[in-house]
Amino acid sequence: MTSLDTSLLAAAPQGAGRYAPSPSGDLHLGNLRTAVLAWVLARRTERAFRLRVEDLDRVREGAEARQLKDLEELGLDWDGAVVHQSERGDAYTAAIAQLQAAGAVYECYCTRREIQEAPRAPHAPPGAYPGTCRNLTEAERAAGRERMGQLQREPALRLRAEVTQWSVRDLWAGEVTGSVDDLVLRRGDGVVAYNLAVVVDDAAAGVDQVVRGDDLLSSAPRQAHLAHLLGLPEPTYAHVPLALNTAGARLAKRDGAVTLRDRLAAGESAADVVERIGDSLGAPGCRSAADLLESWDPAGMSRRPWVVDLPA
Ligand code: GLU
Repeated sequence: MTSLDTSLLAAAPQGAGRYAPSPSGDLHLGNLRTAVLAWVLARRTERAFRLRVEDLDRVREGAEARQLKDLEELGLDWDGAVVHQSERGDAYTAAIAQLQAAGAVYECYCTRREIQEAPRAPHAPPGAYPGTCRNLTEAERAAGRERMGQLQREPALRLRAEVTQWSVRDLWAGEVTGSVDDLVLRRGDGVVAYNLAVVVDDAAAGVDQVVRGDDLLSSAPRQAHLAHLLGLPEPTYAHVPLALNTAGARLAKRDGAVTLRDRLAAGESAADVVERIGDSLGAPGCRSAADLLESWDPAGMSRRPWVVDLPA
């Protein structure tokens, strides 16, 4: 049993939860489990439930349609039209303009390699941007732009962060304080960064409850900080443990029959798959999403990763 922030389970009929898959392939059991939990937590708290397809990169033909069908087969329903990030460019541009107007954006001319090799302050969090382009002179910027032109790239746009940390609330992890650095807002290839898109999209859809895999827990503080800077409400979070294979690596399609389609082909029903998910959540005997909505106890869920061990 784990202790949890039960205030995050209070009814919020004006709010919304969401599931936001990337259409890069079929959903595996770990993704399906996260989707089911996102739906259960939204419906439990009387929220709307929305779907957003994160198709800014890595799109595989047909994946979205299969993902939506899988969610339906598991008994999930959603409110309103499915949102596609590829159609939200104007909203991202407006958000960047808002941050620019506040002096919170600068151009970055660094290559990935330069960032990796740059010297860092002794206590800088791993992977944090070392600030190379933060305080350049106009002449240095002009030189940077020229170099970008030669590389046929745009400068990336970065946030001029004025804090180093931010705190969020998570149903299971409690109050989590994590680092905020000069994160990328728009990449050198012109594509808006995931961290910005997710914040703009969640707020536009009224999403105030973010349920997703706990590989993103460390990104939550910087996303919540971006929301704050944009004058948007900061959501609360519920980060769900990841699914692993029996070797302890993140579950992937190559691990065998791990998608709904695979399980059906192996002779299971959608109800069997829901039951498998329920077992992993400490809610045995649930044969439908509606059963889980009624009986699953978030305090009974293990916060350790789910090791998916399927019959051969
Ligand atoms: N699209 C991301 C994924 O599929 C999830 C992002 C999010 O939920 O904020 O892993």
